[in-house]
Amino acid sequence: MDTLIKTLRANKPETKPSEANARAAELDPAEFLAAAVRADRPRPSRAEAEAAVYTLLNYIGEDPTREGLVDTPRRVVEAYDELYQGYHQCPAEVLDRTFGETAGYDDFVLIRDIEFTSQCEHHMMPFYGKAHIAYTPVERVVGLSKLARLTDIFARRLQTQEHLTAQIAAAIDEVLKPRGVAVMIEAEHTCMSVRGVAKHGAVTFTSRFTGMFRDNPAEQSRFLSMVRSPQR
Ligand SMILES: [Zn+2]
Repeated sequence: MDTLIKTLRANKPETKPSEANARAAELDPAEFLAAAVRADRPRPSRAEAEAAVYTLLNYIGEDPTREGLVDTPRRVVEAYDELYQGYHQCPAEVLDRTFGETAGYDDFVLIRDIEFTSQCEHHMMPFYGKAHIAYTPVERVVGLSKLARLTDIFARRLQTQEHLTAQIAAAIDEVLKPRGVAVMIEAEHTCMSVRGVAKHGAVTFTSRFTGMFRDNPAEQSRFLSMVRSPQR
């Protein structure tokens, strides 16, 4: 994977070679083209989920019966329903509707600064930042808001930043079959800024290039310079 992870302002750059080597072809299309909820896996009831939160409140030393906490298990489960709604949404459906009238447009389309919040799969703590997505259409283009919706679907699941980056690129590749896709994500991980090494402001960058972006370094650097060009 064309991942460059630069952890800025941290003492040591972090690299994860095993994840960095993952390629789109190795992603199971079922994992990024369908809703992620599996019918064959029994789902606990809402009451059971709330009971689990009650247990956690006890575990941290709280009294879950005190007034301020009585409704907390319900609120937490409701928040989970929202934060993890991506498991019930189908990425391919979002990209379903394409438009053929491109008037001979033959350059890439870049959508920059797509804000997202996701949850890291190691700590279930938020990481948030911006995604930048470019693709070079072949005949068909997709509505611009759809790439933001696609980002949200994958972000509203437990993720690693590397996996999120690869899934977005793979879904666009698979559904739109463009000449190439470039995805760059920059994010701050709260599991690193408020716990662990507790470094605020460290930004992790991941990127993924397919097709013409992977094969043509000039296109890669054009993408990167447009992503980095100053805000208007
Ligand atoms: Zn984490």
